[in-house]
Amino acid sequence: VAKEEERAVLRTSLSDVSHVILVLSGKGGVGKSTVSTQVAQALSSRGFSVGLLDVDICGPSVPRMAGVVGRTVHQSQRGWEPVYANPNLAVMSISFLLEEGDAAVVWRGPRKNGLIKQFLTETDWGDGGLDYLIVDTPPGTSDEHISIVQYLNDARPMMMSDDGNKSGASGAIVVTTPEEVSMADVRKELNFCKKTSVPVLGIVENMSGLQMRVSDLSFFRERIINGSETVPFDCTDDALSLLREKCPEVLSMIAAADVFPPSGGGPRGMAEKFNVPYLGKLPLDPNLLKACEDGVSFVEKYPSSPAASPLNAIVDKIIL
Ligand code: ADP
Repeated sequence: VAKEEERAVLRTSLSDVSHVILVLSGKGGVGKSTVSTQVAQALSSRGFSVGLLDVDICGPSVPRMAGVVGRTVHQSQRGWEPVYANPNLAVMSISFLLEEGDAAVVWRGPRKNGLIKQFLTETDWGDGGLDYLIVDTPPGTSDEHISIVQYLNDARPMMMSDDGNKSGASGAIVVTTPEEVSMADVRKELNFCKKTSVPVLGIVENMSGLQMRVSDLSFFRERIINGSETVPFDCTDDALSLLREKCPEVLSMIAAADVFPPSGGGPRGMAEKFNVPYLGKLPLDPNLLKACEDGVSFVEKYPSSPAASPLNAIVDKIIL
């Protein structure tokens, strides 16, 4: 528990932040950073003032996904100035403080917690404050999660007195893939939220089947596997022009394939069981991956790609 003066510093630095949303996942690699970044991007393009705080200290991928990789932060009298991905989106990440972007961070708990507190106390989110602070947390529930929740409780006592809300965090988005190994860990996240009184905004089911538009067939160029070799598949252009000529209506359709077999009621069933909202499912969508690689907003760059409308619907549901 922070001392009184520490609490005062925490309160000041987060006093202009309206909502703090934690993004959690049971396992790594399920799309937590993707959801954090793309939700932040989408909220910012709707005109909200958004901060994206990357405290996934051992695997910071937010800077790349937000298109601000290699940028550095400056310290002014008011604190660390975050890097702006666009005028409405301020990003803060451990990797901005490292000399080499890809230096491995092997730190023990207390040092990590110190850094998380520094992020929360010393980032200057700008004059107008923030409508939303999206926090990309490490996978699982570790010391860092407990610290974040405690720091937020200390920083935002006004939230604690709200009816029914006993947490400085406004809520958590929990990301999972549909298969049982991922969902088993998500139950732990949901129990963590219950124990710490963080409201669950809902569960996002990610990588739920593969979907792509038939017109994106050229994605498979160079991706045909023959034995162990990847061989060129140069006739995608021909195939596309044939389709355009013979059955153009197919081009705007979506081809879908299940990847993970759904287990039991899947994430939707789990949401019902835990009595938390189900926010929707995002298919595996090559354009979503590409947007993350290129550091651009997926819903703006690929508005008609299969994952775009479910992602927009998720954003609609978490606006507080
Ligand atoms: P985590 O933060 O849970 O470790 P990431 O967000 O880094 O996971 O996602 C892992 C990889 O999967 C990234 O390369 C990301 O772009 C990709 N990815 C995540 N969700 C999707 C999706 N729905 N469609 C396609 N690629 C995805």
